[in-house]
Amino acid sequence: MAELTDLSMLEAASALRAGDVSSTELTRACLDRIRAIDGDVHAFLTVTDDLALAQAEAADRKFKTRPGEELPLVLGIPIAVKDVLCVEGVPTTCGSRILEGYRPPYSATSVTRLVEAGAVILGKANTDEFAMGSSTENSAYGVSHNPWNLDRVPGGSSGGPAAAVAARMCFAALGTDTGGSVRQPAAFCGVSGLKTSYGRISRYGLIAYGSSLDTVGALARNIADLAPIFSLMAGHDPLDSTSVTDPVPEIRLNGADLRELRIGVPKEYFIEGLQPEVETAVREAIDAFRGMGAEIREISLPHTDLAVPVYYLIAPAEASANLARYDGVRYGPRRGPGKYPDDYFVTRGELFGDEVKRRIMLGTYALSAGYYDAYYGQAQKVRTLIKQDFDAAFKDVDLIACPVAPTTAFGIGAHGDDPLSMYLEDVFTLPANLAGIPGLSFPVGFDSDGLPIGMQFMAPHLKEAQLFSAAHTYQSATSWHTSWPEL
Ligand code: GLN
Repeated sequence: MAELTDLSMLEAASALRAGDVSSTELTRACLDRIRAIDGDVHAFLTVTDDLALAQAEAADRKFKTRPGEELPLVLGIPIAVKDVLCVEGVPTTCGSRILEGYRPPYSATSVTRLVEAGAVILGKANTDEFAMGSSTENSAYGVSHNPWNLDRVPGGSSGGPAAAVAARMCFAALGTDTGGSVRQPAAFCGVSGLKTSYGRISRYGLIAYGSSLDTVGALARNIADLAPIFSLMAGHDPLDSTSVTDPVPEIRLNGADLRELRIGVPKEYFIEGLQPEVETAVREAIDAFRGMGAEIREISLPHTDLAVPVYYLIAPAEASANLARYDGVRYGPRRGPGKYPDDYFVTRGELFGDEVKRRIMLGTYALSAGYYDAYYGQAQKVRTLIKQDFDAAFKDVDLIACPVAPTTAFGIGAHGDDPLSMYLEDVFTLPANLAGIPGLSFPVGFDSDGLPIGMQFMAPHLKEAQLFSAAHTYQSATSWHTSWPEL
């Protein structure tokens, strides 16, 4: 048999059911691989060996005592969790010094639902500080490296989860997507990544960045592996008043008939600055869908170019409010001379990174009395226009297909200290968050440097099932998702 860590999640699940392998063996294989290669990749901030092995033993007991029963597909499967999601008793830093040493007394609902189904938590994966970034370079604990080329970024902010999945240190990982943070790192690392509809998965226990944009998602080696994770995490949670009560759709992956499917290709997503190899690979994938019977239509989302300025007003505005709670009193370490208000300023000044401080200032400015209408109020109005673009488009098409990012993984340090050029990397992912709709990123090729290229589908609010069936049909007919970096 190949290495255990080379199995997909569903292959590992079948091996567990057949008794060919135990969860303890799978978990040890992942922990060994983390020990062997994570010094180079730096996907993990915390590895929870003892917790993982205890959960694995519990899973193995379940397989023994309840054989023949229909057990959850994630039972006994080792996964990683982005370090912005609380796991009870496990250090949760958000990639920030200001939460160093914080151990949450409860777990995020998304995590709890997987743990109750028997998933094994290997540890907490790296992220840009408070999920603000597109490369993990903003993590206070060091950058993660792209397993395909260690000099490149893995994307961000869920760069740790994406790198961990691509480097086969875990079978799947939980991420979050406020403006692209699941889809873009998935594309950069050649894995599949799901951004769910706003409200589909509870945000309880997800440490807030931009509350009207934040969504929980997942990354895995292929789309079929994402389905059981999505189904378990999704669904109403009374602990999050924005989580929707709509029923969770059943995900069917038995070779959908694509002849009924209308795919829209927005002309605003094929613009100057798009790396030609990305365009070629995405257009070839769209052709493959045409070949499988789907109808392809050119569409227009005319307000696309406003997504970057709108997002970079709304997200920092919400962040500035959400991050007000880190004051050196309630969480993490305190710095300063021991008196108020000096401690407050020194703690925040020393323990927040530059990008977080930049956004707190931007957001506070945009929300201040004299400027609220001109900036935040105006941004909300344009956000509605962006959402209306999608509403109009989805009258004529079922899915929208487009690139995930303008380029493949860029070099570590490539954006230097030019935050604006980094923000522009998000041009294709931000609109889905502003509109609250789901997206799915999956590999469709490689560039001439051997770096993965991703494409994304977007679907109407709560229509995740549509994303899954179309993209899975593509993966059944292609093999991009089956190549892995040598490490
Ligand atoms: N890159 C975007 C930002 O910096 C999106 C991040 C995210 O989705 N968490 O805000």
